[in-house]
Amino acid sequence: MQKKSLNDICVSCKTVLVRVDFNVPLEHKDGTTRITDDTRIKETLPTIQKLVAEGAKIILVSHLGRPKGKPEFQYSLAPVAKHLSELLSKPVLFSTENITQPESLAVLQQKISSLQPGDVILLENIRFYEGEEKNDPSLAQALASLCDVYVNDAFGSAHRAHASTEGVARYAQAAVAGLLMERELTYLGDKLETPEHPFVVILGGAKVSDKIRVIDRLLEKADTLLIGGGMSYTFKHALGQKIGRSLCELDHVSTALGALQKAKQCGVELILPIDNLITNQLNFEARSVGNTQFTSPNEPIPDGWEGVDIGPETIRLFCSHIAKAKTILWNGPMGVFEIQACAEGTFAIARAIAQNTSATSIIGGGDSVKAVKQAGCADKITFISTGGGATLEFLEGKNLPGVAALNEK
Ligand code: AMP
Repeated sequence: MQKKSLNDICVSCKTVLVRVDFNVPLEHKDGTTRITDDTRIKETLPTIQKLVAEGAKIILVSHLGRPKGKPEFQYSLAPVAKHLSELLSKPVLFSTENITQPESLAVLQQKISSLQPGDVILLENIRFYEGEEKNDPSLAQALASLCDVYVNDAFGSAHRAHASTEGVARYAQAAVAGLLMERELTYLGDKLETPEHPFVVILGGAKVSDKIRVIDRLLEKADTLLIGGGMSYTFKHALGQKIGRSLCELDHVSTALGALQKAKQCGVELILPIDNLITNQLNFEARSVGNTQFTSPNEPIPDGWEGVDIGPETIRLFCSHIAKAKTILWNGPMGVFEIQACAEGTFAIARAIAQNTSATSIIGGGDSVKAVKQAGCADKITFISTGGGATLEFLEGKNLPGVAALNEK
């Protein structure tokens, strides 16, 4: 970890502004608002509780939804303040002051200066300001003026250079990673930079084009790359195999061939599915399929049929590699797992990863996280990333602006 974290500094009696990710799903019904999944709030509790225990004055800032730069009632963070107060078993103040107006900013600064060590205040949705997504320096400066220390604990937003994720870090006296951010950087960064071998990477999901930069980078680190999901059919097509009307990105056939070539050069085993669950009709909206059957190993997919999951032989093959691994990274489902009839491959991979308790297992965001939770084995995974786009960009080796702006150790 090259970046300073909360563990490297003393925050006692300091005023600390923490960028959190409280972008939680809300349900508005009969005049009340309910948080339908509070995972993101719970994930920031270790950082907030550490700051409370060390006697910092804590200001929390987050976005919620896409309010397009102006206040919109349904995106207010007020219900989150109430819920956080219950989780922390202490009051959480809520500020609706407009920090882009000097008088209003002064009122908030006054409120903050009268906070006691361990007090918590949550600011209203930062995307109510136009300047947030534009990374407006004046908004970033207003945020920095509220604190002695800026902490970024919102890894899922770190790929965006916004005022509360990047700009503020340049104006604050100190800018460090929160505990959640530190874990993300440790697992997705350090652990994968120098992985224990064998290092097995499992990639799936719809498109080669979305994952090619991740494939490219991981081919330099991995021993084995298992590719399933919709994107495996572009690879199969590139190898001249019949794929029926399976998902295929014709303009990325050469990309797939390039990856196969690179795998050979790097001495990486790149393994594609040998059998598939296929259907003659897929209706994603209705979550239904027509007739289904498994292909035999290496049997072509007939015209009019499409692959919607990996087959039992592939599951066996992939699981045998997963069982031998010392480091495992998984991103992307093995099939259309939202439809129960096509979910077994994805769940089998989730269970196999969970069963290998001697490996460091890392699940990289999005649908694989959903799958591992649905399979009931999330607690057996070493680290589950909280980012979606940010996780992929980090795995591609990109410098995330919200991370780059933090102080070096
Ligand atoms: P991604 O966001 O790229 O990880 O892709 C996830 C999506 O890929 C999920 O919604 C899956 O339903 C979809 N997917 C996985 N396998 C297939 C497949 N064989 N055909 C069509 N869609 C697929």
